[in-house]
Amino acid sequence: MFDVNEIRKDFPILSRKVNGYPLVYLDNAATSQKPQQVIDCIVDYYSNYNANIHRGVHTLSQEATDKYEAARNTIKEHFNASKTSEIIYTSGTTHSINLVASGFTSLLKKGDEIIVSALEHHSNIVPWQMLCERTGAVLKVIPMNQEGVLDMDAYVDLLNDKTQLVFVNHISNALGIINPIKFIIDQAHRVGAVVLIDGAQACSHVKVDFQALDCDFYVTSAHKMCGPTGVGILYGKEAWLEKLPPYQGGGEMIAEVSFEKTTYAGLPHKFEAGTPNICGGIAFGAAIDYLNTIGFSEIAKQEEMLLEYANKKLLEIEGLKIYGTGSEKTSVISFNIEGLHPYDIGTIIDKLGIAVRTGHHCAQPVMDFFNIPGTVRASFAFYNTIEEVDALVSAVKKAKMMLS
Ligand SMILES: *Cc1c(COP(=O)(O)O)cnc(C)c1O
Repeated sequence: MFDVNEIRKDFPILSRKVNGYPLVYLDNAATSQKPQQVIDCIVDYYSNYNANIHRGVHTLSQEATDKYEAARNTIKEHFNASKTSEIIYTSGTTHSINLVASGFTSLLKKGDEIIVSALEHHSNIVPWQMLCERTGAVLKVIPMNQEGVLDMDAYVDLLNDKTQLVFVNHISNALGIINPIKFIIDQAHRVGAVVLIDGAQACSHVKVDFQALDCDFYVTSAHKMCGPTGVGILYGKEAWLEKLPPYQGGGEMIAEVSFEKTTYAGLPHKFEAGTPNICGGIAFGAAIDYLNTIGFSEIAKQEEMLLEYANKKLLEIEGLKIYGTGSEKTSVISFNIEGLHPYDIGTIIDKLGIAVRTGHHCAQPVMDFFNIPGTVRASFAFYNTIEEVDALVSAVKKAKMMLS
């Protein structure tokens, strides 16, 4: 049985106070909090078997290697990849995207087309712009409507035999809109284009199945899934990972080195140069185990309940406007109050213990589209409560009173 009060006991940080008030943590879209199970896993690694992996014959190195590879398998099983070698450890979503964008430099030519969406995070825009500069490829953008929903007719019109790559996020971090990625992937494949899905915002809310989606690449970060910062994955279909050149040179990614010629290691090591975030990888596995113990259907139920309640309560505030009103949404509410700056609202409610994000959320084109400097973004996780939504609403009302 899902009992939010029991679950909250797993998260030590949730019992602290901020500015004299109980912490109300509603910035989960930026990073999630970590349960004791994940913290214990990190402490256990550094207390009991810290060693470099894949290199030593000694016992500690073997233990660390086994745990690191076991976590890779946990990740592979969770996301239903067909092989563990298709899971590349990276430092996170941004690193994963840059790895792929860099790899395509030698695979694209002038005039090729790359499609991104109007809803992207900067980390899924800038690397592709840099790729276009290097190759002469052209960037096309899927437009969105006033509800923050991508225009699929316009997308289909953009596809043609010059389209090489399509990059779209699974769920928008700025608005919480869930994009129709299965349709996007299938349509791209009709013209032979490669698809990369940015799942940084999705994997904490839904259980993603890589093979069912049939995406060519999928990237995500551990830190939004109750895991540590500094670790994430690049999933790629084996054929594509074989085709991409290595990203960084160094130890671990080679088969044989001489000054005349170096041959590269097989997957996944070809993309894992240097000593990785060993503890982070292992703790990512622990975070996935934790989320699965709670269950993604229970997580979705709690988050939907919070979203619906917060939506209703916030809209009772006069002059409050929510951005991203499409029906397919996760528990993210981006809003403004007429005449007030989002930063001022965020600052006042922080004094009342409430953590939200204000600004452009690394998605400036989305803000430009709505012609606003930014929004206040409240993003809920399964460990948030109705009482916390009430605290948010009353704090926002107070801020409005003080500022107007
Ligand atoms: C958080 C986020 C990113 C960036 O992830 P990092 O962990 O900072 O690399 C990219 N895209 C989306 C949609 C995100 O929410």
